[in-house]
Amino acid sequence: MIGVLALQGDTREHLHAVADLDAIGRPVRRADELDDLDGLIIPGGESTTISKLAVEFGLLEPLRKRIAGGLPVYGSCAGMIMLASSILDGRADQVPFGGIDMTVRRNAFGRQVDSFEGTVDISGIDGGAFHAVFIRAPWVEEVGDAVEVLGRVKDGPAAGRIVAVRQEHLLATSFHPELTGDLRVHRYFVEMVREAGQTTEG
Ligand code: GLN
Repeated sequence: MIGVLALQGDTREHLHAVADLDAIGRPVRRADELDDLDGLIIPGGESTTISKLAVEFGLLEPLRKRIAGGLPVYGSCAGMIMLASSILDGRADQVPFGGIDMTVRRNAFGRQVDSFEGTVDISGIDGGAFHAVFIRAPWVEEVGDAVEVLGRVKDGPAAGRIVAVRQEHLLATSFHPELTGDLRVHRYFVEMVREAGQTTEG
């Protein structure tokens, strides 16, 4: 059972990706809906809004607890920002769930370019480079020792920038695989969820 946070953002696209992989997906808005989840996706959208609504809906602390307890979580774009331990160019009142020891910069790719498409190789995912769609996306400015850098932008002015990371049960991408029909990142996450389930049950 994979929840998709449904406070704001492109929840539906993630639910479609989960369904296409024959996993069971469910939108999540309330704290009690976290209880029976095996994994959670935090969608792209607007991290300041997601943060504000998470506080209003009483989700901040319960979700932080589940993250600390090992719940596998994947965040794309605004979801990546929500998983960061520290945010640059955020709003003063914006609070992340945290979990990944990294600093992300919001809207990092520049004001002129609202969105762009680029190529990213992701380690651990076969089948060639990713065609990645970035929409007012963050990049990862700094990572702690526990964080594995999975992908960087291959070419163009942002070449070398970190855009995919993993820290144990937490995965984050700056881009939106849910919008391109390439299911490999979601498949990778569903595998993480299955492996986590086997460890707890075993
Ligand atoms: N700029 C947005 C934010 O700060 C993220 C954009 C996105 O998720 N596409 O949350």
